[in-house]
Amino acid sequence: MKIAYDLHIHTALSPCGDDDMTPNNIVNMAVLKGLDVIAITDHNTCRNAAACIKCAESTDLLVLPGMEVESAEECHIVCIFPNLDAALKMEEQVKAHLPKIKNRPDIFGHQAVMDEDDNIVEYEENLLVTATTLSVDKVAELALAFGGVAIPAHIDKSAYSVISNLGFIDDSWGFKTVEVKDLSKADAMYDDKGLDRFAIIHSSDAHYLWDISEKEHFLEAEKLNAEVIINILGQ
Ligand SMILES: [Zn+2]
Ligand SMILES: [Zn+2]
Repeated sequence: MKIAYDLHIHTALSPCGDDDMTPNNIVNMAVLKGLDVIAITDHNTCRNAAACIKCAESTDLLVLPGMEVESAEECHIVCIFPNLDAALKMEEQVKAHLPKIKNRPDIFGHQAVMDEDDNIVEYEENLLVTATTLSVDKVAELALAFGGVAIPAHIDKSAYSVISNLGFIDDSWGFKTVEVKDLSKADAMYDDKGLDRFAIIHSSDAHYLWDISEKEHFLEAEKLNAEVIINILGQ
């Protein structure tokens, strides 16, 4: 079956995420757009994933917990997990390797932790948008170890991507899929960087509700199931 996806969405917990990126708003927008699966991928945390998953319980939308980890090399890696337990184990590691810098909401924006009714439970005080001390290969290794998948994010962007910062993707890192923001650039990147050995996905990296993908990008899967989707992305 064809599965419409958007596997890179930020909530209001990311300081750069709009305040309207609440669990209910995100789920309702994804349902409205006809998506089958989304992943919640805030910077270096999955604290709003549980609320989003709960919001989707009464719908046909599958919500996968994840996070966009920033490696020591300032490369963004989207990590997606089949369940909350796995994502929380990853978060524990990421948190342990995240510098203790207090967020300045006046500069970076609020980091709102929310419940399934969109109430703000607390504000995350540690700044989330900064590099961890985990190397790219370590991020990939951890995600895999916890049963998830790691996907180099927006590799066509001129900053915070594996290609922009390192210039290459080493096969030993174990990536099978890469994320491209602008699919029209994908062919040129294939030629330049020899990226044709990877599957390519396109996700929105939405920080605002209207950025969430239309029903335009599909994965071919036998069924709509978290493990099945993780397997496809990691094969
Ligand atoms: Zn990013
Ligand atoms: Zn992002």
